[in-house]
Amino acid sequence: MTLSINKHSENIFWFDLSPNNELEFISIYLVVDDKIALIETGPACSINNLVKGIKLAGLNPEDVDYVVPTHIHLDHFGGGGHIMEICKNAKALVHPKAYKHVSNIEKWWQGSSDFLGKVAQLYGRPKPIPEHRIISAEDGFEVSLGSLSLKAVHTPGHAPHHITWAYGDEAFVGDSAGLWYPDLGISFPVTPGYYRHDLALESIEKMKSLNLENIFYTHFGPRVVSNTFEETKKEFELWIGIVEEGYKQQLSSDKILEMLFNKRPGLLETNKNHGVHQKDTHKGTVEGMIEWIMRKNEKV
Ligand SMILES: [Zn+2]
Repeated sequence: MTLSINKHSENIFWFDLSPNNELEFISIYLVVDDKIALIETGPACSINNLVKGIKLAGLNPEDVDYVVPTHIHLDHFGGGGHIMEICKNAKALVHPKAYKHVSNIEKWWQGSSDFLGKVAQLYGRPKPIPEHRIISAEDGFEVSLGSLSLKAVHTPGHAPHHITWAYGDEAFVGDSAGLWYPDLGISFPVTPGYYRHDLALESIEKMKSLNLENIFYTHFGPRVVSNTFEETKKEFELWIGIVEEGYKQQLSSDKILEMLFNKRPGLLETNKNHGVHQKDTHKGTVEGMIEWIMRKNEKV
């Protein structure tokens, strides 16, 4: 497996982590300013590639100052504890709601295993991070990296503990703006079990108000911002509309996914191209949206 480093700008580098040789699934970013920040770690299983990528960028793991997940789903931070052992001088910046899970992994691992099944095993088990090496990042938290600071913008919806990290007019958006397919030029929502559609839309608005030039998806790669957030919001609303229609007709999640395949050009192709970790991602999104609709209906 040969990794290669992409240089986005003077300060931002990124590479395809390729966990279990799956390509174009997880992008890892490095911000190289006076201080060095590693954005996302990927899962535990790809720790060797993560270290390789840091070194290929010309950095020594001991020089990394901050390890910064957008959220702690296993594909984003399952390797957090592993890389913290190697990046000996780094602090981890995590959402207050994620703090206890990364210091004591049992509930986190159990919950992830229950939800992801075999895929959790593929990702591998996280390692705990000692509390004195974790910084809790409230909404608006800022840390200077030198020329610019890294700022925490809480963006719940995909997960309650999701953070978009802004660096000047660029931002690492994790999964809060969905999945970006650069070859198709389109992004689709990604929504797990406890998805909050109302918060996801608010978070998209919040990101739009940052007036960003570029955003960096974890799945997958950089995107120049134009009317990106308007399009993203429309796509989320379109999906929830279709899912709601299918739910009213009491269709299964597979049938609703088929409706989406028919209505969203390119979606079926992305579903076919997904590797082993992402195999049921779009179906999972339909189910996440169904759960949201059910919870919303119960409240009325
Ligand atoms: Zn993800």
